[in-house]
Amino acid sequence: MSTNRTTTKTALVIGGGIAGPVAALALRRAGIDPVVLEAYDSSAEGIGGTFMIAPNGLGALAVVGLDAEVGRIGQPVGPMVIEDGKGAVLAEFAGLADLPHGRLMRRADLYEVLQRRLRETGIEVRYGKRLIGAEEGADGITARFADGSSATGDLLIGTDGTRSTVRTLIDPAAPGARYTGLLGIGGYSPYLLPGRAGRGESVHFANGARAFFGYWGLPDGAGTAWFSNVPQPEQLTYEQVSAVTNEEWLRRLRELHADDVPARDVLRVADADTMEVFPRLEIMPSVPHWHRGRMVLVGDSVHAPSNSSGQGASLAVESAVELARCLRDLPDHTAAFAAYEALRRPRVEKIAANAERTNNQKASGPVARAMFRVLAPIAMRTFMSPEKMLRPVHGYRIDWDRRVSSSV
Ligand SMILES: Cc1cc2nc3c(=O)[nH]c(=O)nc-3n(C[C@H](O)[C@H](O)[C@H](O)COP(=O)(O)OP(=O)(O)OC[C@H]3O[C@@H](n4cnc5c(N)ncnc54)[C@H](O)[C@@H]3O)c2cc1C
Repeated sequence: MSTNRTTTKTALVIGGGIAGPVAALALRRAGIDPVVLEAYDSSAEGIGGTFMIAPNGLGALAVVGLDAEVGRIGQPVGPMVIEDGKGAVLAEFAGLADLPHGRLMRRADLYEVLQRRLRETGIEVRYGKRLIGAEEGADGITARFADGSSATGDLLIGTDGTRSTVRTLIDPAAPGARYTGLLGIGGYSPYLLPGRAGRGESVHFANGARAFFGYWGLPDGAGTAWFSNVPQPEQLTYEQVSAVTNEEWLRRLRELHADDVPARDVLRVADADTMEVFPRLEIMPSVPHWHRGRMVLVGDSVHAPSNSSGQGASLAVESAVELARCLRDLPDHTAAFAAYEALRRPRVEKIAANAERTNNQKASGPVARAMFRVLAPIAMRTFMSPEKMLRPVHGYRIDWDRRVSSSV
């Protein structure tokens, strides 16, 4: 077991989404006292659609003692099946037998677990604190917020998502998030799928004629969860999205998926009230500077892969834990930040590059889709085997007890 060598006493964690609370819990375990500062006025309970916490994300959550609790929410991810728009199977990835199942869950459910644990641990969360600037001194850093208040700590950790303010404070020339050209829409339908899909034992991804469709049965035959990635060249704002009623979005989706099976059947009876429209399917290009002085980035603010990776939240929690481990072991925070970046950058950039290829496929035209139909079964037998594709991503574990050295 590594002994605590940190000289950092306090940290300002900017952003109370997913990475922020996990970073705060891991920092506390590393002997650092964090406070979480969130832009919104109140907690985001109930907000957001469905995402996956993969086996590697559960592994990172184990470090902060949350793997069992998170492993009970949502539903397990069975084999992932890639289909054409008519339901014909092109490829199938069974999970790796020696790893726990990933979990599909509502973002809101994970958020609630994290908020509860912050309360139990006595970590303070301040709402209505939108960071607008920061000044460094010899002994610490002072964050300034839009409401006129400020807070001071030894370090400032930017877990403020794809539109990060901390990223720009670190480097005013930092790249911004890149829109994927896809709108994410998801919801529930009482439609009962046949076979194992209907029992929730498999998750299906279909390249439809005009849009991509994902679906899986809910446990206990309670219906179907679904999402569609709709090509949308001009990015919409949250305001533009909410100016259109869910009934209208559903009508448009039914048109887009009119020729796709089973999408058209799922959507025919889908419940508009359960729908979420997410205009921020964004990717972070490679960020040249992950840290400067007393500031460092974690999660979507520095490495948002596209949703096609199924890794956004899992990589965010991995990075949160890894940063805390580096700060625990390297008394000089500059050395700790450098070690953190060296440990994280190659992994997250590789996963992002693979996901971008999948995304291009989703936004592609009929010719590329036809090619994919031919090539996918061949690829599955060769370079896309579950062992080759999934092991490096899902099998990754952070060894919390191992000491980080500055030369990692
Ligand atoms: C409301 C919401 C809904 C989402 N829904 C989905 C979904 O349905 N499916 C999916 O795959 N992913 C979704 N995501 C993204 C997903 O949560 C992240 O990709 C992933 O979990 C990584 O988390 P993160 O903590 O790095 O970023 P986020 O979860 O984006 O959290 C960033 C946090 O920082 C806060 N923040 C931003 N700027 C400032 C500032 N200047 N000062 C203080 N705080 C700031 C934000 O309000 C937010 O709470 C959603 C994100 C949000 C914020």
